[in-house]
Amino acid sequence: MAKKRTVLVTGGTGGIGTGICVQLAKSGYVVCANYLFDEELARFAQVLNEEDVEVLCFKGDVADYASCKSMYAQIKQEVGSIDILINNAGIARDAMFHKMQQEMWCDVVNVNLNSVFNVTRPIVDDMIASGWGRIVNISSLVAQKGVMGVANYGAAKAGMHGFTKCLAQELARHNITVNSISPGYIDTSLANNIREDVKQKIIDQIPAGRFGKIEEIVHAIAFLLADEAAYITGTNISVNGGQYMD
Ligand code: NDP
Repeated sequence: MAKKRTVLVTGGTGGIGTGICVQLAKSGYVVCANYLFDEELARFAQVLNEEDVEVLCFKGDVADYASCKSMYAQIKQEVGSIDILINNAGIARDAMFHKMQQEMWCDVVNVNLNSVFNVTRPIVDDMIASGWGRIVNISSLVAQKGVMGVANYGAAKAGMHGFTKCLAQELARHNITVNSISPGYIDTSLANNIREDVKQKIIDQIPAGRFGKIEEIVHAIAFLLADEAAYITGTNISVNGGQYMD
């Protein structure tokens, strides 16, 4: 029987991350979820229990290269090398640019963009050695379209698109694909905290007339992970209900 492929999902215990971990575990992957803070672990464990799936959790700060290196050493020791990496961890620190503090800029760039170097770099040698791999970077509609009050987030997420294209060119010969997914507004606790009238204004701008579902992001990821997707690399899939079209 073929060896099960091993996936690392950064920010795996968050809203979208939980959906990715659960669905990939159900599909037969060995799933490792990265997290930073312990607060979400109990909720995450409860979801895994309800869904009757196993996901291994590994603590590590994606904004810190040394932390990512030691997290991967631990994963290799306990599970083995990673075949598939989903760079999903992200934060937002919103403010209009004239009110944005340097710390807000640096935090967002460190967690959303520098993280893709920090996490991918220790793993990529093993992918190259194995001659197969998949890397999926979770970007955002904000990077494509521009949105007020999130210049730090938009800059970091747009950086992921450049990273995706360049790395895709380097790794194609090793049977490793690198792609990004740009979600629009997705039905997570974050979206549910938006004031009802503001939410309605956003929905009015979405041709599909609703927020996206976490499962719809997971479906796009699963599509890119398949063996049959081997010839799709360096591209971005928008999952935004038609809110922005390239
Ligand atoms: P959540 O806030 O629910 O989850 C984010 C995850 O990132 C959490 O698990 C968090 O872990 C983790 N994380 C944050 N900082 C770090 C760090 N330094 N090291 C390790 N992990 C960290 O967000 P979503 O699930 O909604 O978003 C997932 C991704 O999708 C993000 O990249 C986001 O930008 C992107 N996205 C989301 C959209 C939406 O509508 N929700 C729209 C477009 C893009 P912990 O709790 O342990 O801190």
